[in-house]
Amino acid sequence: MVTTLSPTPNEEQMAMIRQSAHDFAEAKIRPNVMDWDEREHFPRELFSEMGEYGFMGVLVPEEYGGTGLGYAEYITIIDEISQVCGSIGLSVAAHNSLCTNHILMFGSEAQKKKYLPKLATGEHVGAWGLTEPNTGSDAGRMRTVAEKQEDGSYILNGAKNFITHGLSGEVAVVIVRTGELLDSHGMTAFIVERSDKGFRGGKKEQKLGMRASETAELVFEDCHLPADRVLGEVGEGFVQSMKILDGGRISIAALSLGIARGAFNAALAYSKEREQFGKAISKFQAISFKLADMATELEAAELLVREAGRLKDAHLPVTKVSAMAKLYASEVAVRCANEGVQIFGGYGFTKEFPAEKYYRDCKLLTIGEGTSEIQKLVISRALLK
Ligand SMILES: Cc1cc2nc3c(=O)[nH]c(=O)nc-3n(C[C@H](O)[C@H](O)[C@H](O)COP(=O)(O)OP(=O)(O)OC[C@H]3O[C@@H](n4cnc5c(N)ncnc54)[C@H](O)[C@@H]3O)c2cc1C
Repeated sequence: MVTTLSPTPNEEQMAMIRQSAHDFAEAKIRPNVMDWDEREHFPRELFSEMGEYGFMGVLVPEEYGGTGLGYAEYITIIDEISQVCGSIGLSVAAHNSLCTNHILMFGSEAQKKKYLPKLATGEHVGAWGLTEPNTGSDAGRMRTVAEKQEDGSYILNGAKNFITHGLSGEVAVVIVRTGELLDSHGMTAFIVERSDKGFRGGKKEQKLGMRASETAELVFEDCHLPADRVLGEVGEGFVQSMKILDGGRISIAALSLGIARGAFNAALAYSKEREQFGKAISKFQAISFKLADMATELEAAELLVREAGRLKDAHLPVTKVSAMAKLYASEVAVRCANEGVQIFGGYGFTKEFPAEKYYRDCKLLTIGEGTSEIQKLVISRALLK
């Protein structure tokens, strides 16, 4: 169990956190990975258990029921969980970095007191809705609207898609239009509760990978929300979202490290066991050089991800480096997973070995929370401004 620690943990504390996440993943996730994947089953009950271990409110201060840790520890937790199952890593990341963190960063004191304790303990799972069917990378063109009523309340109409925990999330933060199209101050964030009338989960996606992480629509049909559900200032939803994604991208980068590491470790072990032409395949330079490339890229990715975490923990500007970390680590994960299958040969193509699942799961990393192309836009804008 993760105990609450000082803001800058020493090596011993960090090792303890890593061990705790590792042990949890091995005991509670590993035995079920392929079953959940086959059935596209989102194991809701696991998230309550992870709450007990402190994994559901990693960044939430103790006063709101969280673990009160920083990004350094958060990266480690996501990395460890994702080495075993990318889907669970993705869900933990979306819950902590997106929904919970949006309320933590921009919520009023009353909103924090109301929502954070249940989210931080896993009693509630959170969702975060920015994407819509016609607007992914171009989120500013969203069509879901919130119309202000005379009494200050709002009526929401429209739909969000590809939302992690769209069906199971008890609480969602959604960003919708309250002003003119393409006005970056024309969008507002709202907190929605599962029981709100006019709000429901829609179609659940069937996916190539990350199949145990639920991805579904959020549908709003004359959904009436009181004024106290506005999160932060009216018109600031888009700007808030960009700040939330700065942190979210660090968690996707950490998820990438975990998947890359999982694929590498599996391939390394297999290469020492599998014999062809009378010797272990690791003895062939073609294979050992693949391992060398994978290990080198993994190390470089970790340095970049750790630097993004350090900047975030120090409250320094992080937009460029978090985009770099997400871009690089996700592309490394894709390359490691690809080489992992190659090292396993035909067995890598079967479900008896873990290589194929890393290969399927990793592709989401270059897409979710901004595609690789969009990360390059963010990085180049920062360089050229
Ligand atoms: C499993 C999963 C979970 C998700 N979870 C969430 C969630 O919880 N909340 C949420 O809000 N969203 C979520 N998403 C949505 C995700 O963030 C979007 O899919 C992503 O941002 C890309 O948007 P899109 O799919 O509409 O692709 P598009 O924006 O249509 O992009 C298609 C292609 O065009 C490229 N492209 C687009 N614009 C440009 C440009 N200006 N320059 C160069 N290339 C460009 C893209 O890089 C991409 O290659 C999730 C998606 C998946 C698959």
